[in-house]
Amino acid sequence: MKFKRDCSYCSNTGQVASGICLPCSGIGYTTADIFLEFPIFYAYQIFNATDSTEYLALSAANKALYQLVVSQSFVDMTEGKNAKTTLWVLFGEGSNTRDNLITILGV
Ligand SMILES: [Zn+2]
Repeated sequence: MKFKRDCSYCSNTGQVASGICLPCSGIGYTTADIFLEFPIFYAYQIFNATDSTEYLALSAANKALYQLVVSQSFVDMTEGKNAKTTLWVLFGEGSNTRDNLITILGV
């Protein structure tokens, strides 16, 4: 199902200072289809995969990094991109959170 979403990057104008708004491809709105192509996730999916005990054990600096990741509407979990790299640093191999994220990534 497609549905329109406001583009928060360009305030629905399709343009940003550097030219065409890339998140909406210059059309001024986004659709679920554009943004939910694997491995793009809603932030709530990342939040739901997070083990609260593991989150609480993070340092203040790492909590701030985590909050940057989940404060995005959509989280790009592509290998080598900031979100995944950050989450993998915060939640080490064998942690519940990483295992949950691996499950939603399906890889
Ligand atoms: Zn836009």
